[in-house]
Amino acid sequence: MKTEFDTDREIETSIATLDGTGLAHGPVYCANCIHCKLVPSPAEAAGLYRLRVRCDAGKWRKKLGEEKIYKYFTVARRSIPSCLSYEDMGDSDDFIRDLRKVLPTSDETYSF
Ligand code: SF4
Repeated sequence: MKTEFDTDREIETSIATLDGTGLAHGPVYCANCIHCKLVPSPAEAAGLYRLRVRCDAGKWRKKLGEEKIYKYFTVARRSIPSCLSYEDMGDSDDFIRDLRKVLPTSDETYSF
């Protein structure tokens, strides 16, 4: 089964790197990563769209390899133990706390 890591060695390297630099012990929040992108997705009615998030490093995959995208309002819940492609955009705790305050509480629609 393919995971977000390419090989077991990559997992070991990732953990060692994270431990060695002291950058992260515990979950990596994808929302605080430069590769987590907000994208529009067409809604049911013309002129409307919903917001989705995707990993532009290609790490979010379904079991059969298809790209997985998530609803924007769930993005603060996306975390993984570690990721070699993680590039943080600042202090994770502060960012996630502030993000939770401004995220919509449901899958809202927007107009163009
Ligand atoms: S690169 Fe890794 S940490 Fe960044 S969004 Fe993708 S899966 Fe999450």
